[in-house]
Amino acid sequence: SKIQQAKFFVTVNHLVDLPKDPIPEIAFAGRSNAGKSTAINLLCNQKRLAFSSKTPGRTQHINYFCIPDKDETLLGHLVDLPGYGYAQVDFKIKAHWEKLLSSYLQERAQLKGMVLIVDSRRGLTDLDRNMLEWFCPTGKPVHILVTKADKLNQSDKALVLKSVRDELKLLNSTKPKFGTLTAQLFSSIKRIGIEEADDLVCKWLGL
Ligand code: GDP
Repeated sequence: SKIQQAKFFVTVNHLVDLPKDPIPEIAFAGRSNAGKSTAINLLCNQKRLAFSSKTPGRTQHINYFCIPDKDETLLGHLVDLPGYGYAQVDFKIKAHWEKLLSSYLQERAQLKGMVLIVDSRRGLTDLDRNMLEWFCPTGKPVHILVTKADKLNQSDKALVLKSVRDELKLLNSTKPKFGTLTAQLFSSIKRIGIEEADDLVCKWLGL
């Protein structure tokens, strides 16, 4: 897959510093510890492209990875959004996080779709719902990776996937202008769902 060519590009702390080129990008979002960095690294087939950040102070960064073609022209960007939901984060950091993420999701023209990483043992949380509330009105597609599926038995996996899909269906039925909202099971450890996720990201980027 072309996204396996991904390389680190730039770290951004403020919206004004976002890359200006009209290159299509896909954003990865999720609660901290949901498995976002692991999923990005697996999709890009690299060990340490995305880093999981355990320090609340570092939650505000947006990391850009670029996908070059053979001749080094840029095909797209993968965007690693700051993980959210740390227990001990002060008010100022939370406010900064909200402004950064909501503005990015609502206004970023280059953004083609959002991949939302959700821990299968937790399901969708209110912070994830915030992300959907900000992004869905843009009419762009969302794909949820219900990850760490290896931690659940068959029936619990099916239950959590159904509950996520039901919630997406409900969102879609109330607001018909929303983009397609989909979900799948994913596991980095058992390598479940990698091809499905990869296909979608490539499709969104036009690769
Ligand atoms: P992030 O904070 O969202 O970037 O989360 P990480 O990718 O750092 O993952 C958080 C923890 O979950 C790490 O200890 C990972 O090894 C673990 N993890 C990530 N993906 C999976 C998975 O699919 N299955 C299992 N069992 N553990 C996972």
